[in-house]
Amino acid sequence: MEVVQREYEALRPQFSAFCGCDTCRGDVLVFALNRLSPHYVSTRQGEILTELSLASDQEKAKLSVILLEGFRKVGMAPRCGAKPAHIV
Ligand SMILES: [Zn+2]
Repeated sequence: MEVVQREYEALRPQFSAFCGCDTCRGDVLVFALNRLSPHYVSTRQGEILTELSLASDQEKAKLSVILLEGFRKVGMAPRCGAKPAHIV
């Protein structure tokens, strides 16, 4: 989902300790997508993009929080074998 990827790229520079390889990146994105409200994930992709691009600031803030949690979780146990990064 484009909006989630864009937000990921925006937040990524804050976490220099985070691996950020394709595996870790994918894990954070999937984590975020799975946690977005069912309202978004249950619709077809075209509708998801529309919904999210029109999303309120509150929804965007929620997305950031979910992504931060994803960075933390994936960073603590990267599946790629990178050194775990503790992200606060
Ligand atoms: Zn990695």
